[in-house]
Amino acid sequence: MARVAFIGLGNMGGGMAANLAKAGHAVTSFDLSEAALAKAEGNGCTRAASAEEAVKDAEAVVTMLPAGKHVREVYETSVIGKAPASAILIDCSTIDVATAREEIAKAESAGYRMVDAPVSGGIAAADAGTLTFMVGGADEAFEAARPYLDQMGKAVIHAGAGGAGQGAKICNNMLLGASMVATCETFILAQKLGLDAQTFFDIASKASGQCWSMTTYCPLPGVGPVTPADRDYEGGFAAALMLKDLRLAMEAAQSVDSYTPMGAAAEELYTRFAESLGGGGKDFSGIIKMIDDSWTAR
Ligand code: NAD
Repeated sequence: MARVAFIGLGNMGGGMAANLAKAGHAVTSFDLSEAALAKAEGNGCTRAASAEEAVKDAEAVVTMLPAGKHVREVYETSVIGKAPASAILIDCSTIDVATAREEIAKAESAGYRMVDAPVSGGIAAADAGTLTFMVGGADEAFEAARPYLDQMGKAVIHAGAGGAGQGAKICNNMLLGASMVATCETFILAQKLGLDAQTFFDIASKASGQCWSMTTYCPLPGVGPVTPADRDYEGGFAAALMLKDLRLAMEAAQSVDSYTPMGAAAEELYTRFAESLGGGGKDFSGIIKMIDDSWTAR
């Protein structure tokens, strides 16, 4: 078992650090929040007074931070040059592709192995150890990171070179955001055309319109499997996080001059739902309420 430093013990990182401790690693944790640190201690982690102290004799460093600027700050001030050069550095945060590539390049030029390893799956999957990791980095770095990721997830996939994990994550979530909007507007139209929602679900789930947003995560309450729609769109994947990922996707698309009209439309619609209409804390399938004109003026 290894000495692991874990930085960023929020909604996601708290459960992930607990799973590493449960697997038998000596986890030294750091977060700016006292409450998060106290919770990690309760889950078998040791607390450090700073990120530098957490990483000083680590064999692996795992970070789960809000955005690119936090990742840059933590790696440049507290990890690179502070952790032993033999440590494998694993950033699981969802951040922009450019920052991920830059930080991996800086770590590599200081002699470290580093991967970007963003996740699919929410807080429940982080707690249960059933996340899916999309990993970018050199083969040797991927192999060094894999045993730790295996203990926090159910699938670990090597997506390609540094930054490819972030690329895979935002492309997947751009597709998810666009397909959820398409599913919502389709169900509203089907109902207005006089179709029973469950009957349409049964047909489309077996026809060529089938997609995950409908069959597994239906945005209508009482239709298909139990989903956040059945608890008034509480829990699940917050619309604010979907919007974050769509913005990262649009930024990436612009950087490589890629035409993404459906992604752009999804970003605009989620901006309206999450920010103008206050739906940011609701599950992202709650956007059906905005599309259904019985709920609000469009
Ligand atoms: P969160 O805000 O709950 O946790 C982030 C933690 O980082 C906080 O506890 C904060 O105090 C800490 N932090 C910030 N700056 C720090 C610093 N300089 N040093 C130490 N700690 C610092 O966020 P979260 O929901 O856990 O999400 C973390 C990442 O995972 C994000 O990039 C998010 O996009 C991604 N993600 C979240 C979900 C989800 O469902 N919540 C799902 C998939 C991916």
